[in-house]
Amino acid sequence: MTDTQRKVGFISLGCPKALVDSERILTQLRAEGYEIAPDYDGADLVVVNTCGFIDAAVQESLDAIGEALDENGKVIVTGCLGADAGKVRAAHPNVLAVTGPHAYEEVMAAVHDNLPAPHDPYTDLVPPAGIKLTPRHYAYLKISEGCNHRCSFCIIPSMRGDLVSRPVGEVMQEAENLVAAGVKELLVISQDTSAYGVDVKYRTGFWQGRPLKTHMQQLAEALGSLGVWVRMHYVYPYPHVDKLIPLMADGLVLPYLDVPLQHGSPRILKAMKRPAAAEKALERIGRWREICPDITLRSTFIVGFPGETEEDFETLLEFLEEARLDRVGAFAYSPVEGAAANALPGAVPEEEKQERLERFMELQAAISQDRLAEQVGRRITVLVDEQDAHGSIARGPGDAPEIDGVVYIEGAFLAPGEFVEVEITGSGEHDLWARPLEAAR
Ligand code: SF4
Repeated sequence: MTDTQRKVGFISLGCPKALVDSERILTQLRAEGYEIAPDYDGADLVVVNTCGFIDAAVQESLDAIGEALDENGKVIVTGCLGADAGKVRAAHPNVLAVTGPHAYEEVMAAVHDNLPAPHDPYTDLVPPAGIKLTPRHYAYLKISEGCNHRCSFCIIPSMRGDLVSRPVGEVMQEAENLVAAGVKELLVISQDTSAYGVDVKYRTGFWQGRPLKTHMQQLAEALGSLGVWVRMHYVYPYPHVDKLIPLMADGLVLPYLDVPLQHGSPRILKAMKRPAAAEKALERIGRWREICPDITLRSTFIVGFPGETEEDFETLLEFLEEARLDRVGAFAYSPVEGAAANALPGAVPEEEKQERLERFMELQAAISQDRLAEQVGRRITVLVDEQDAHGSIARGPGDAPEIDGVVYIEGAFLAPGEFVEVEITGSGEHDLWARPLEAAR
């Protein structure tokens, strides 16, 4: 199934609260790579968000479900009328699933069941499909589509086109709606967050009646004013990114940067045609740490790229040792159909790739472990994600959901979605252990 085939139609009925639910579901669908179909014909399935407030609304909702079934055939029902699943199924026994209001996790589960989103490490912004669904206290906020770069291993620009930044006022409105719906952490995503606004020449938009530039820094400041955690993903180490770091030091956005570096050898970065390849990443990282010593840096790397020699690989290992990044993901290069890199000479044999990947991971595991051990004794704020049989599982400023580690708080059963002050008492390879001090906010 190709990306363009995953299209969801959406009908939103009812009051502003239902609208927030709709926006929440639409945001999640877009973040996971689904497209929103403008009509029934183009949709693979249709979600109907219903209203059940008065009889006329019930009838309107039932009619909308009927129309979607006639026109498309695959329908998921949610919203207030969905709270009475018997009524919906009595009128329309063929609907795929029925959920009540504010049940976007269940809606997403029904969408996954009927229209799975395939995982592609080269194109996915969010973690693999089959992941736990986003709990209601954090949400992905997509600020742009497409990309102006042409990395030789990537087919996103040919699939999704050049960068198109979402209007800043629209992004902020969505963020405000998410916060009003109970979201405590906004995860800013795009293909290239540092390029936000380049396509519209950093046009001035409006939010809350005030001018606001379509620019990463102004967006980060505005998001930071909402009083929730703001986490920036997919930022390239351009000089203007330096301006974000003081916002982190001031606590406006989380001291966390997800910077996909991909390699440490200038030769390979050139062959990859990486953005900001000429920027001196190590120097930049050093400067960021000077301004904000608490910053957590995450990155991803590809080993075994065509033409990567043992010397290039060792340069990468040296880079890793010097950069001492906190969190690192890596995968062995594998060709993606349609990518320019496929035509490059010097393919690395599979066995060699795997061997390099293992060496890479072994080195980084030791670095990550040391970095985490440095946390022991510190007091930090964490956000509780869930409870298990032993206590609570939370995340600190340095832990993005799904991709980084967690903070275990054993023996304390804290409410998911709450911020809690803790003292770090132990560390492992990926995770931390802590004890609670007091409720933070
Ligand atoms: S920056 Fe490179 S890897 Fe990222 S989406 Fe653009 S072309 Fe693909």
